[in-house]
Order: sequence, then C-alpha cells, then structure tokens
Amino acid sequence: MSKPQDFFRYAHRELSTEGVSLAGLAREFGTPLYVYSQEAFLTPLRALQDGLEEIRPLICFAVKSNPNLAVLKLLQEEGAGMDLVSIGEMKRALLAGTPPGRIVFSGVGKSDEEIEEALRHPIHSFNVESTAELTRLSELARRKGKSAAVALRFNPDVNPKTHPYISTGLKRNKFGLNRSEIVAIARNERNYPGVRLQGLSIHIGSQILSLAPFDEAFRKMTDLAIELDEHLAEPLEFLDLGGGLGITYAKEKPPSIQNYCRTVLKHFGKKSRFYGRYRILLEPGRTISGNAGVLVTRVLYRKKRDRKDFLIVDAAMNDLLRPSLYGSHHGITALSERLENAKKIRTDVAGPVCESSDCFAHDRPVSAKLDSGDHLAILSAGAYGMSMSSSYNTRNRPAEVLVSKGKYRLIRKRETFDDQIRLERPARGGKDPS
Ligand code: PLP
Repeated sequence: MSKPQDFFRYAHRELSTEGVSLAGLAREFGTPLYVYSQEAFLTPLRALQDGLEEIRPLICFAVKSNPNLAVLKLLQEEGAGMDLVSIGEMKRALLAGTPPGRIVFSGVGKSDEEIEEALRHPIHSFNVESTAELTRLSELARRKGKSAAVALRFNPDVNPKTHPYISTGLKRNKFGLNRSEIVAIARNERNYPGVRLQGLSIHIGSQILSLAPFDEAFRKMTDLAIELDEHLAEPLEFLDLGGGLGITYAKEKPPSIQNYCRTVLKHFGKKSRFYGRYRILLEPGRTISGNAGVLVTRVLYRKKRDRKDFLIVDAAMNDLLRPSLYGSHHGITALSERLENAKKIRTDVAGPVCESSDCFAHDRPVSAKLDSGDHLAILSAGAYGMSMSSSYNTRNRPAEVLVSKGKYRLIRKRETFDDQIRLERPARGGKDPS
C-alpha cells in the first residue's frame, strides 16, 4: 500500500521526487506549493488494473480527491474512467478527454440543472441515492426523450471503522438507499420510465484500513443483486464497488492493493459464482492520489512560549484542510536532510490563519534547527488537499506542479488577488479596488 516515502525521498540530501529537488521547485514557484509525482499516481492505478486483470473492471478515479485537469488527463490516458459528484467535475473529466462512457455521476444531491446537463452526454451511469432523485431523473430524461442508465446506491449498513465524517455506509448516514427501498423501486420499475435500472453501487467510506467491511459490503450487495433480478424486467448489468481503500499517512497498515484485489476477486473473479455476470466498476480516490503529492511550505517564524515551540509556516488550513477538519495526521519533514536529521523538539506546526484549528501538527518532534526561510513538506497531501482548498482569509490558493522522470511542469498557477475578487462588485458608490 502506498506510503508517504514511496515517491518522495532524500536524494543528495534534499527531498526529491523522480529526480527533482523540491527545494528547487519551491525557489522557482514559491510556497505554499503542491508537488505531485506522476509515477506515484500511476503505480496504484496499474496495481489495481493488474490485480483485477481477470475481470477487467472500469476503474473510475474519484475526481473529488484531486481534480486537476493534468491529473485527470494522465489517469484517463492510462485507461481510467471518472467518478464525479457535480457537473463541474463532469466538465473537468470531459475537458481532460475522458470518454463519456467511462464516467459515473455519483452524489447525494444532484440539481435539475446538473441532471439536464449530464443527460446531454452518453455517460456510463448515474448513481442515484434516493427515490425522489430517481423520480426526478426519470422525469427530466423523459422530457428530453432520453433513457438514463442508473445504478442505485445501496447503503449496506456496514461499519467501515473510519473517521465518522468519512463513513458513508451506515444506516444513519445520509448516503444511498436501504435494501427495502431498492427492492420497492425494482418492483415498481415501470414508475420510472425515463431510466434503465442497470446496476447497484456502494461506497461505504474512506480511508478504510481493513478488508472485512469491503467483504461484508460486497456480500450484501450480491445478495441484493440476486433478489433484484427477480423483480427487474432485465437483469442487472453492473456493480460499482465504490472506493475507500486507505493509505499510510503515519503508521497505519492498510491492506495492500493486491489483497484488496483478492477480496474483490473472491466475490467476482473467475472462481466466484458471479464471474462474468456483472461488469465491475471501482471508484478509488485516495488510493491513487493520496501519496502522490506533498504540500511544500516555508517557515515564517519560530516562536517559543513557556516550554513550547511553534513553527509558523506559510501554508494554512485553507491550503490543506484535513488536519483542521478531521484532526488528520500528515507526516512533516524538512526538505533538507541535514536539517531533518538535527535534534528534534516537540513543536506545533501552525499556519497563519486566524483559527486555533489552523495547525498541521501538535507537539510533534520536529527539527530544532528549522527557522525562518527553511522549507518543510507536509506529506500525503495528494488527495483531498488542493481539492478542499479555499481562499479563506483572502489567501491565494497554492500553485501545483507535476513531476515526471526528472522533468516538471506547472499544472496550476498560483491564484492571485485579482482572481479572487474578479466576481465581486463593490457596494454601490464604493470604489472598484482595481
Ligand atoms: N465514491 C464516492 C461516491 C465517494 O463519495 C468517494 C469519497 O468520498 C469516493 C468514491 C472516493 O473515496 P476514496 O478517496 O476514499 O477512495
């Protein structure tokens, strides 16, 4: 399973990826800066493709985890489809050249405008999360003389034992339909003339660290699929197994991709009773992008208070929200190996935003030698990093750089103040700041 150090290691005493020093990138592009390794995105995707070769699933990258167009293009050219949750993400997927037939439109609340726009493209399927949404999709498709391919998102009531904010497959979560709702829909299929009920989907949560919840969810899904075939006019064609496989941020030991694939094959592979019966889809996000990126930041100040040290850095919660939102751990390391190897003292690494939660690490052993102007990398920031960033405190979102085999390119410019205020209008009588 991917670890922070797999693709970001010291070379010539500087943290580097694919032969490029991150300090050089920080000098050239400034900080905070997201740096990604192309190889790090491709390695887990290929491991999933290889591990599941015998069933050749459609692997739809969860765009929400890292929606940069260059990343999407890279993955779609490697055969990935895209799993998306808004029309904006669909536009990104299409702009990146993803064939519409490899796109699944998930999401618990699609608006009429989003559904209408999506119906203009021959996408693989809509993942539908409520009876009301199915009714609406059917009406809108019918009005346009279309028939939408649908997977019903099944909430299997399985505990993924992950952070409550990223647990999605429990009865109390807002996601999906329960078994009896799905059976009722299948029984009343004719009430939805604008859709074709072709599949089931699940997604039980994110950063899942054991295979048991997947195993249980797949079993409940196939049980339901069998029952549905008794009610539907046409048998189901596909099952979408969602994403959720965890990665190593600190010391977690998530299942390897190979073992995850074995669990999938246990249910759907050559030796299973369902082999060949359903097309299989996956929706991995973090598994592919999580350890493919780091956030490079510069130390602004060292500050001592009583017996505590603070490093105030130029990245903040608006650039990488996970620690503030979920209390998530991200490894932090100096870009210079010499500094990293110096004596460590317990330190809070915090950003400049006016919130106490704007802190990347509390009481973490960090090099005592780090001071103003030195650089750090916040590791495992490739998933839900830039995609959750905001301009809170009127801070410009970071730039993004993609490195491949000794070369690099800017894949998103740093936001500017003008970018931020472009859509705003000063109050009547006020002066336009530009
Ligand atoms: N599919 C759906 C419907 C999701 O909501 C998510 C994430 O929340 C994913 C896939 C991707 O999850 P992960 O990044 O954990 O693989």
